[in-house]
Amino acid sequence: MLKDIDKDKSIIYSTCDNCNKDIATSYDGKTDIAYLEEFSEYENFSLNHCDCGSMEVINLNLYYEEVDELFLSVNNLSEDEKSQRRVIKRLFEDLNFEKIG
Ligand SMILES: [Zn+2]
Repeated sequence: MLKDIDKDKSIIYSTCDNCNKDIATSYDGKTDIAYLEEFSEYENFSLNHCDCGSMEVINLNLYYEEVDELFLSVNNLSEDEKSQRRVIKRLFEDLNFEKIG
């Protein structure tokens, strides 16, 4: 689960959904997101593997509106989901891809 992002250091902080271990993933220099014609979507963003073998990926195909505060306030999302979307929104701001939303 996504916890936080440090945009100055280009690091995403998460915890493993399987064993709850804290994981830090650097995205320094990995900000160009490829568009996959075959699937008509952007590639997923993979976080570092946990020692237990579990790995989380971030779906980058959310529309920008779906991570916006207005969307978060009017839709019945869990607090965990909201906080994760806030991390994704801040990650979006650091990535180089043409928004589809
Ligand atoms: Zn784990």
